[in-house]
Amino acid sequence: MAQLSTVLTQATPVVAARGEGALLFDEQDRRYLDFTAGIGVTSTGHCHPRVVAAAQEQVGRMIHAQYTTVLHRPLLDLVDRLGEVLPSGLDRLFFANSGSEAIEASLRLARQATGRPNVVVFHGGFHGRTVAAASLTTSGTKFRSGFAPLMAGVHVSPFPDPHHYGWSQEQATEFALDQLDYTLQTLSAPADTAALLVEPVLGEGGYVPASTEFFAGLRERADRHGILLIVDEVQSGYGRTGKFWGLDHFAGRPDVVVTAKGLASGFPLSAIAASDALMSRAWPGSQGGTYGANAVACAAALATLDVIQDEHLVQNAAARGKQLRAGLEERTTRHPAADNVRGLGLMQGVEFRDAHGKPDAAAAKAAQQTAHEHGLLLLTCGAWGQVVRFIPALVVDEAQVEEALDIWGQVLHTLP
Ligand code: PMP
Repeated sequence: MAQLSTVLTQATPVVAARGEGALLFDEQDRRYLDFTAGIGVTSTGHCHPRVVAAAQEQVGRMIHAQYTTVLHRPLLDLVDRLGEVLPSGLDRLFFANSGSEAIEASLRLARQATGRPNVVVFHGGFHGRTVAAASLTTSGTKFRSGFAPLMAGVHVSPFPDPHHYGWSQEQATEFALDQLDYTLQTLSAPADTAALLVEPVLGEGGYVPASTEFFAGLRERADRHGILLIVDEVQSGYGRTGKFWGLDHFAGRPDVVVTAKGLASGFPLSAIAASDALMSRAWPGSQGGTYGANAVACAAALATLDVIQDEHLVQNAAARGKQLRAGLEERTTRHPAADNVRGLGLMQGVEFRDAHGKPDAAAAKAAQQTAHEHGLLLLTCGAWGQVVRFIPALVVDEAQVEEALDIWGQVLHTLP
């Protein structure tokens, strides 16, 4: 009898049968508050009626039209619509299926456009699991060990993580920028450096927001040295943080934006956006793929944008994020182990540390498991798995956030 690979483990034993908004139901029809959203994917909630209708309509009309063979209307319309939400000037798009693929497309573009081999990434970043994307990933050795050699040309510089260093945001930012200069002086000469690749909020790395000064410093160095700034918005984009892009919190000005996850409410779709001048420096043949910009995924992505706009979901993410943050902070003070709440909008994490101040993965896992038993689905993240993260769909309502917070309060009481 065939079985799933044993290393493909699940955070919960739930067998999901159906979903509705911020709720999931298992095969016995037990209701769960889903604060995982498919790891931040189902932006408009499970099975939003408008996304379902758009996908169903497209399935009946045309499922797949390969985009280096023919063009199709949902793709052309999506390009137009994304032009309205992308940072200004980033109006050339390439589409793929997953975040990892899009990250690799941005890497190819950066190397081809600059003729330089290296990329500087920031410690704790997660950029995907394919070999090149894993080579750029430093949020945990589990994503990059055992299949060496990894891709060469990657250098790692510190991310401004105040909790990790035990410093203020200002100190951590100053340190990270100084170390970036040191990296460019000692490891990867600017003339060898194609790109800086960064997440506005570390995702898998533990839900740590960057800062305005950090993004200003990255931009200044990128401009000074002719290096491209690639911003990985795969998890932080699409309204998740209470602004459309995570980098909007930091007045970030990227050369390339990478997006995926929330883009099509659950259909596999990813994209990179760059200026015409930059994208035209990609070499012929370097962008393509069998399934990229699948017609059903594009139709779902168009409906997703409509829903985000019409239902004011970015504003909802900001308001519900505020409620969630305040509630987490309030409950967390009742439990000394869960000492640190951080994140932006509906991307919030609670970090657990033990009596010695060390990352406490066991406590985070116990909390996540107990939450599931109480009907609240959560995930962990962070280098040690010491952070419990809350990422509900952008449609989550006030009562659902309150219910999740009540459960979280009970969970903290059960912890030793
Ligand atoms: N970048 C970031 C910031 C991510 O969070 C992820 C997925 N967790 C990826 C890239 C990779 O995306 P995918 O799993 O779709 O390849």
